[in-house]
Amino acid sequence: MSAPSLQAFQDQVSELLLRHRSLLDVLSKTGQSNASVNRAVTKAITECGCIELHATKQSFDMGADLEQAKQLAGTHVNGQLCENCREAVSSEIGRNLFYLSAMANLLDIQLDEVVDKESQKCSTLGLFNLS
Ligand SMILES: [Zn+2]
Repeated sequence: MSAPSLQAFQDQVSELLLRHRSLLDVLSKTGQSNASVNRAVTKAITECGCIELHATKQSFDMGADLEQAKQLAGTHVNGQLCENCREAVSSEIGRNLFYLSAMANLLDIQLDEVVDKESQKCSTLGLFNLS
């Protein structure tokens, strides 16, 4: 089975969403589930230990080309998520997407369109878009 489109997922969420039909409720759930994603990542570091965070100041070499710059900019992550933590983080991301979809539904926003527009912005702005 292939992954459903964002629109199909949004429709599915809309059908399931009986308990959280209030926008206010959905807003607070979105915030809460976002915090849970961060918490799952933090637990991978502090409780499991499969990944480590070694944060240092980012240094950019202005003379470097984009590919070099990408390699020099550290992610500060050492290691890889173990199977358990990957499952936990993925599941929290899914929950977060659920509530984001619910919010989009209540405000009549199509996520397919959102992703499309954002993707266009990314290709226009290029590598440093997110800085
Ligand atoms: Zn782990």
